[in-house]
Amino acid sequence: MLCPYCKGEIPDDAKKCMNCGEWVDPAYRKPQNNEQQGCLAGMFELFASVTWFALLLIIAGIAVYLFLDWNGLVN
Ligand SMILES: [Zn+2]
Repeated sequence: MLCPYCKGEIPDDAKKCMNCGEWVDPAYRKPQNNEQQGCLAGMFELFASVTWFALLLIIAGIAVYLFLDWNGLVN
């Protein structure tokens, strides 16, 4: 039969394509998540990392400001 992914010739009872390495048998393939769910999860992860980065920047900014203030460099 032909591999559905790379169209290479593989044995009829093959579970994995030896040409492209894809699992031909659906039972062996990773469960495919809903595309939108995956996208949402990715966006949430990005949002979370951006939020943490912003938080760190703010904390660093406050620390620098306090340090300068403590040294009398800001007013
Ligand atoms: Zn293949």
